Amino acid sequence: RTRARVNSAIRASMEQQGFVEIETPMLIASTPEGARDFVVPSRHSPGSFYALPQSPQLFKQLAMVGGIDRYYQIARCLRDEDLRADRQFEFMQLDMEASFATQDDILEFVSEAICDAAEAVTGERPGEIPRMTWHEAQERYGSDKPDVRFGMELTEMSDIFEGTEANVFKVPCVKGILYEGGAESLGRNAIDALTDKCKRWGAKGLAWFRVGEGGALDGALTKFMSEAELAAVPERLGAKQGDMVLIIAAERRTVNHVLGLLRLELGRPPVNEGGFHFLWVTEFPLFETVSDAGNPVPAHHPFTMPHVDDVGLLESAEGDEYLDIRSQAYDLVLNGWELGSGSVRIHRPDIQAKIFETLGIGAEEAQLKFGFLLDAFKYGAPPHAGFAFGIDRLAALLAGEENIREIIAFPKTQSGADPLTNAPTAIDPDHLDELGLRVLPPSS
Ligand code: ASP
Repeated sequence: RTRARVNSAIRASMEQQGFVEIETPMLIASTPEGARDFVVPSRHSPGSFYALPQSPQLFKQLAMVGGIDRYYQIARCLRDEDLRADRQFEFMQLDMEASFATQDDILEFVSEAICDAAEAVTGERPGEIPRMTWHEAQERYGSDKPDVRFGMELTEMSDIFEGTEANVFKVPCVKGILYEGGAESLGRNAIDALTDKCKRWGAKGLAWFRVGEGGALDGALTKFMSEAELAAVPERLGAKQGDMVLIIAAERRTVNHVLGLLRLELGRPPVNEGGFHFLWVTEFPLFETVSDAGNPVPAHHPFTMPHVDDVGLLESAEGDEYLDIRSQAYDLVLNGWELGSGSVRIHRPDIQAKIFETLGIGAEEAQLKFGFLLDAFKYGAPPHAGFAFGIDRLAALLAGEENIREIIAFPKTQSGADPLTNAPTAIDPDHLDELGLRVLPPSS
């Protein structure tokens, strides 16, 4: 019932904002979301396969070219990825797209629908949804989906340790968090376990200090630190007697990543506590990693517009410099869960060609994979932008549930099986023949 309320509120909200519902097909060619496709063999064309949609991305962009300037759909999407508490093979998204719309317009359309849905379930309308850049989220929370229900922010200390004598702190970046009351609650075993986790997450170790009277630090590393360092650390964190100071020293990305996870480990409230804290995270990097062949891999999808100030960098960047290029992509986060993503799209053929080239997708391959979209763009694509958010995740959080399975009718188990119908099952040899398929024995 909660879920039904969410769906109906979203639908009403989108209709009221002038969006037109379009149902896009389930049997299609591959979409560029970056996950593995589920495929369906074709009987009419044995040896050929349809892909099930990972999202309606390309269809909604085509709708923009076709003159539907506000599209939405409560769309079923399928991605063949490992299942987790917040991920099933198939999930529902509010998928939307608008022409002549800026990032601000999209954020407003979606905020309105989300607030309507939350209000329909809780009876209370969330306030305006705050915004934060990806960079700020990383620096303050060590995450691209910060849980802002609690503080414990990552605090910069690199300047304190600039001329340090302590070898552990002779690194590009030093940051810390304050665990209030931790001097007593964290025993030696707990600290050892946390240190092991930090190592697993990528740090060399965890520097920790108990805070005593007058902010005096106590810990194995104090003997290597100067008076000035010993005074500056507790002062910077506002530490008081009984607190624990936890510091990670490494390269900046590692520090943010590890401290971000440590912060969640120590401070994250249970799923059904602390209210609903929505957050927009903007200016995501355009690329996520760089492949061994030196080609960057898109963080969102290859139709995402680079940040206006960074377009030039596409020409000059090499290797890891690609990771500094920002995009016009944004995420919506709720209590530390990524609810959805979207972006301003590339509507200019020259920028699109440059992106394909940068990704190592040749003109021929681009035409083969996305020709139907690129050809449509030749007739004039309006500037457009869009978004999609997961309804399962939203409904789960609004219902105070940690696992989306709890708000899905007939969900799959962790291994992707359906214990009710026994799917997936083998099919008749005759049926396989029709499809032109043979099943090999499982490889050992
Ligand atoms: N197609 C994207 C996704 O499913 C959302 C979007 O960019 O609109 O994540």
